[in-house]
Amino acid sequence: MIARVVPLTKTRAITGLYDYLLAPELVDRGVGVGSLLRVRFAGRTLSAVIAELAERSELPAQRLAVASELLDARLPAELVGLAVWLADEYCSTPARALEVLLAPGALRGVRERRLLIASLTAAGAEMATGTLSLSPPLGPRQREALAVLAAGPRPTAELGTPLLRRLEARGLVSLERAAVPRQLPRFEVSSTASAPLPLTAEQQDALSEIRHALAHEPAGKAPLLLHGVTGSGKTEVYLQAAEAVLRAGRNVLVLVPEIALTPQALARFTARFGEIVAVMHSGMSDGRRYEEWSRLASGAARICVGARSAVFAPLSDIGLIVVDEEHESSYKHEGDPRYDARTVAAHRALEHGALLVYGSATPRPETVFGARRLLLTNRVDGGLMPAVEILDMRGLHNPLHPQARLALADCRREGGKAIVLLNRRGWSNFLSCGSCGRTWMCPHCEVALVLHRAGGYMACHHCGHRERVPDRCPDCGSVSLSRHGAGTERLEHELEQALGDEHFPIMRLDADAAGIDARARILERFQAAASGVLVGTQMVAKGHDFRDVGLGVVVDADQTLRFPDFRAEERTFALITQLAGRTGRGGQVPSAGGRVLVQTQDPTARAIRLAAGHDSETFVRGELRRRKALGYPPFATLVRIVCAAADAEDARLAADALAQHVATLAPPPTVAVLGPAPLFALRGRARCQLVLKSADRGAVVAASRAAVDALGASGRHRRVRLSVDVDPQ
Ligand code: ADP
Ligand code: ZN
Ligand code: ZN
Repeated sequence: MIARVVPLTKTRAITGLYDYLLAPELVDRGVGVGSLLRVRFAGRTLSAVIAELAERSELPAQRLAVASELLDARLPAELVGLAVWLADEYCSTPARALEVLLAPGALRGVRERRLLIASLTAAGAEMATGTLSLSPPLGPRQREALAVLAAGPRPTAELGTPLLRRLEARGLVSLERAAVPRQLPRFEVSSTASAPLPLTAEQQDALSEIRHALAHEPAGKAPLLLHGVTGSGKTEVYLQAAEAVLRAGRNVLVLVPEIALTPQALARFTARFGEIVAVMHSGMSDGRRYEEWSRLASGAARICVGARSAVFAPLSDIGLIVVDEEHESSYKHEGDPRYDARTVAAHRALEHGALLVYGSATPRPETVFGARRLLLTNRVDGGLMPAVEILDMRGLHNPLHPQARLALADCRREGGKAIVLLNRRGWSNFLSCGSCGRTWMCPHCEVALVLHRAGGYMACHHCGHRERVPDRCPDCGSVSLSRHGAGTERLEHELEQALGDEHFPIMRLDADAAGIDARARILERFQAAASGVLVGTQMVAKGHDFRDVGLGVVVDADQTLRFPDFRAEERTFALITQLAGRTGRGGQVPSAGGRVLVQTQDPTARAIRLAAGHDSETFVRGELRRRKALGYPPFATLVRIVCAAADAEDARLAADALAQHVATLAPPPTVAVLGPAPLFALRGRARCQLVLKSADRGAVVAASRAAVDALGASGRHRRVRLSVDVDPQ
């Protein structure tokens, strides 16, 4: 038997399958597609995944190496196919694709936690019930241990291993290593949450449509989009749809953007479905992830709730895939392959004949275009949407508008809660010398260093470089250094000075809060506080279900608009709408529905105006019109190729060569090439990018792959690192 394998190596040049002769004992052990082998490859021993089995090889028998070492881990065959598809779709290699979707820890040998477990032997059981006497007699601690074990086996660590070893020597106890599941994380689950809630009329309509699609539409059903305002109860609809699918004997995959920051969604699933829910996210240890992976692969768990990479969960027979908050950019993976979990979800739905349901209050135009929409127009609690006011910042220098300061002071007086969003962390954006004008830049990237005052350092937000804050200018010696702009750290400080006290705490949430746990704790503190302010970056606007926030402030709504990107407006719209979504829930806030203030230098900007009017419909229609006119997704596919090299000339030459290849492989009008254009340097590498645009997705992806491969094969651009991004964000 011949195994066609993917050797797990990062080398870009290795893209094909390699044949090995399977040792007969491996055939007897039932190897198959998805089995992991250790093989000799190019002079090294590597892990490899079987992608195909064949009777014979094209290679002469004497040139075939024998594979005789089998690893325990095994991927479901479907996932091997998915990896091959992923590599193709995102211009990567099967090995890299397999690496992102392999069971975490499978290759590092992480296994279930195994403990030494003690149990009574027959003699031990007689001894425990007092029907046996021994000489010399047992000591009191030994008798106690037998009594405990009479109730059932226990890990030895609980009773003392040396003690149990002595009992083992006397034939009363047997000790064995056994797998013990790690503790499942505890979530706060209210006892009332576990029964399905009676649905509102809108929720009921949406659920009926979903059930109808599940029952009557053919395999690979057209996707649905649950477009519901914030607080309209989308999760309850997913829960009841999931229940229907589970009853029908099929399995469910639920993707959420960031579990650790929005634990409520997960808590609702575990409360409703208990043990059959498996969780997957990046904050978990490899061991835990491997256990959850195994529970899914074995069928012990039937719902997977997880973040981006959970789209590769080893579920069989998926009937429903939910992508919640589908507008979130965290669904896009920034490593190689640069996959988009939403696209992968659509592919898997097709393969499994599953129904795909997207949900969002601010769906992306491409999703509105490609899916049938189900609308939820009201908040479940009957609450109003918050009133959104636009504050004109032109000519003002303080980061907060006088009206925003007044509103925050009112909030404090009334004992309310507020969220202040500023999508920029640190103290100030940059530092400059008042005498000679020197600015402090990152030595590795062409960007300014951001001042972090509490830590006493300046940091590059792109590569992580840090240096101490200078007290004088190294060029001219002047000590008059000025700080420009405000970030969350400075805003927190100013609010603390103006308003903060023990009854009105000011809390900050941004990426400076190291680790997912620290962030979750800040959110819990804010949730639990009777009143106070949460200041932070876009993290504060994620799907949190805060009960009693009366005021929201967007400090610099133009910040996202300034990005030179065709999604800039969409991001701005989503940010304002999502912040408004955290405001005025629970119906107990001072002004029903709450109040949101949006500070901007450009009060007439379309995204800001429409977000203030809660007019997601007009916004999306307008975006689609604009994208059609300009030939952007969903009316075209974009591929971005970045060439990076120590030397700017090397990067540019490679980009030129790529542009030429593409122009020959797929001449216009099939594929339009924009650029090459220089980008700012990053991590000590000059960069140059090409953007390819085409109405023919297959053609542009194939041309990109062929051009990149040709460049690799030519060997003339070895100093250049290429990265290909299909559907860049
Ligand atoms: P969305 O995801 O649309 O923003 P959520 O699913 O977070 O909304 O729901 C908002 C709140 O309403 C949650 O606390 C949820 O438990 C509650 N809820 C949802 N549906 C119902 C219902 N039919 N009856 C009562 N409460 C509901
Ligand atoms: Zn100077
Ligand atoms: Zn840097």
